[in-house]
Amino acid sequence: MTSTLGLSQLGLVDLLPPSLQTIPEAVGKNMAIARARTGSRIMAVVKADGYGHGAITVAQAAISAGAEWLGTTDIEEASALRAAGLTVPILTWLNPSGFDAEAAATGRIDIAVGSLEELEALLKQTSPAAVRVHLHMDTGMARGGCPVHEWDALIARAWHGHQRGKVRVVGLMGHLPLADQAESEVNAPAISRMYQARKAIMEAGFGAPLTHLAATSGILTDPATHFGMVRLGAGLVGIDPSETTELHGASRLTAPIVHSATAKAGTPVGYGGTYITDTSTSLSVLPLGYADGIPREISSEASVEIHGRRYPVVGRVSMGQIVIDTGADSFPPGTTATVFGPQGGLTPTIYDWACWAGTIPHTIVTGLGPRVRRTII
Ligand SMILES: *Cc1c(COP(=O)(O)O)cnc(C)c1O
Repeated sequence: MTSTLGLSQLGLVDLLPPSLQTIPEAVGKNMAIARARTGSRIMAVVKADGYGHGAITVAQAAISAGAEWLGTTDIEEASALRAAGLTVPILTWLNPSGFDAEAAATGRIDIAVGSLEELEALLKQTSPAAVRVHLHMDTGMARGGCPVHEWDALIARAWHGHQRGKVRVVGLMGHLPLADQAESEVNAPAISRMYQARKAIMEAGFGAPLTHLAATSGILTDPATHFGMVRLGAGLVGIDPSETTELHGASRLTAPIVHSATAKAGTPVGYGGTYITDTSTSLSVLPLGYADGIPREISSEASVEIHGRRYPVVGRVSMGQIVIDTGADSFPPGTTATVFGPQGGLTPTIYDWACWAGTIPHTIVTGLGPRVRRTII
């Protein structure tokens, strides 16, 4: 390449890549809503890169708004938060690559232990200090956590590890199986299991563990599930699985139009020609496709917003692009289209996209590809 001319000097617009802008202020507002529903400590769950919004950005915003703990899936995610300078306690609950007891001890990263095997694997390792452990009770989900019949054995073994200075039991964890249901009766069995588990821990000689069961849905709908701490994940980024509370969308996905043209009536659009224009119309291309997180399964209602109007996505979603039909309006390349944004106005939301794709909003935000540039506004 010999040319040093920028695109704008060539008379073309500079085309920015698709961009996800995270809105920390919205995370703060969602924290405030959660804060108003519970007197318990709040753990900000920032797994899956903060539900696609940037784990560090979401964690910082949540801590500024009063979160006292962070939660991630594994030690590696937690270590990245430590490397970013975050000092609050962090809990991890699934470490498929094994327990790096040394990383946990030196990084002050807590580990949830939900079976005898997990505890043995931890006790086998050497670490410079006792590893902080939360015993994880299966509260009815059969997706991790110690089954009731193994609980006493787990506690006995933890006591042994405690006496040898290998582990410190600081917490008790459960997880609600009916996390998206707002009726409190459905949580009752899990709640009573937590009380039993807690009693057994204290009878074994441990101090009172920091007890936590509820995630977003429980936080917003059922105070009986709150115990000493609650774990707020989806709610931080504006997703309420219980669909009871209006939260604030915490991101905006935009992309520039890269190509525009008029098409005659009867023009097939995209792979397979699944859409055929019925009149002469303007078509525009956006540089986002299923590799970037636009679900290929979307219905014909899917649309984007440009200058305050909605335009439908037409034809099949390609790997790296979609076509929109802008009708009688034509837009020059470089015009910004908003794929989704916070609630309000005509901008589609992640809830709209989830509906168009037959999924939940979580998969929309966590599915964004690496080409989508992340920024903070
Ligand atoms: C993801 C997760 C949470 C947060 O759940 P949300 O419904 O997103 O708030 C809490 N606890 C555990 C164990 C999780 O895996």
